Amino acid sequence: MKHNFGAGPCILPQEVFGQAADAVKDFNGLSILEVSHRSADFVKVMEEAHELVKKALNVPVGYSVLFLQGGASLGFTISALNMMRENKKAGYINTGTWSSKAIKEAKSVGIDLNVIASSEDKGFTYIPKGFDIPSDLDYVHYTSNNTIYGTQFNGIFETSAPLVCDMSSDIFSKSVDVSKFDLIYAGAQKNLGPAGATLYIVKDDVLGKSTSPFMPSYLNLKGHAEKDSMMNTPPVFSVYASMLNLRHLIANGGVEAADIRNTAKGDLLYSEIDNNPLFFGPVAKEDRSNMNVTFLLNDGAPSQIFDKMWNEANIVGLKGHRSVGGYRASMYNALTIDSVQVLVDVMKEFTRKNG
Ligand SMILES: *Cc1c(COP(=O)(O)O)cnc(C)c1O
Repeated sequence: MKHNFGAGPCILPQEVFGQAADAVKDFNGLSILEVSHRSADFVKVMEEAHELVKKALNVPVGYSVLFLQGGASLGFTISALNMMRENKKAGYINTGTWSSKAIKEAKSVGIDLNVIASSEDKGFTYIPKGFDIPSDLDYVHYTSNNTIYGTQFNGIFETSAPLVCDMSSDIFSKSVDVSKFDLIYAGAQKNLGPAGATLYIVKDDVLGKSTSPFMPSYLNLKGHAEKDSMMNTPPVFSVYASMLNLRHLIANGGVEAADIRNTAKGDLLYSEIDNNPLFFGPVAKEDRSNMNVTFLLNDGAPSQIFDKMWNEANIVGLKGHRSVGGYRASMYNALTIDSVQVLVDVMKEFTRKNG
């Protein structure tokens, strides 16, 4: 068995892989891959998936849950188009690659965009704090967890403007007060299910209020909400496996229990990074992510030897994103603390031999 520290598509519980595989072979006499999305059997799956999202995150009344396609990358455009109001003005917090892409897409659909805070000055190794927010914004957008740099907002970012968040890489890893947000979106493949579906949680008040002259039907969340995610063919398999994973999450104590496990995994690895003389973490301590842990080898430490050792320990996916280098241990919900311990043991052994 491999220890999958990959950033996404990500590890899911073995039990979910087994159940999803069973449904590929037999889902009430058909394969889940061939079943009609209009069939009563699949409509039930979609309804349960919506309900389980609401249950797992305590989504208040007055919000719609949607499973769409296009990834969080289309979410950058969908969020900007659906949140655009009279001012056509928005504030974005730039905490790295994904927020930068969100900024680019929002500008491209005509948002007069104000970067209200950025951590670019220090290579996106921290979360900006204590900045001013103009009062005339249609909305404020941020990325709760920065998958590539390994930084994470610790708690919800407060503002009086409607709040929009890309939660792709930390949704379902801990509890979140959904009532503070007008719109949340997340690609499924980081912590929810296989690639293909994109989750949207949208306040119903938001729907149909856009002032954008450009609004293709697929990008309009109102139409999707009216059709319960069935406006067109949904990503059937991804929704099914996400539903299985949500059942598994809730049966194992929900997001509160996941948070406790994720914190224990983070503490274990960060304490090794801090105490091992051959490694260091570039991220400001108070802004460290429990989902994506970035770390580097000290100058002169033999990286080929370390790479060989973790490969031999059946660890996969540990290389840092191609844009930043170093190492990144992605530790989504389904990664066990035993896998983290394997990595920590390799780091200790490496330093014993090469320190
Ligand atoms: C992976 C990721 C994206 C891009 O997701 P796609 O589903 O591939 O479009 C966007 N935002 C964050 C925070 C991510 O981690």
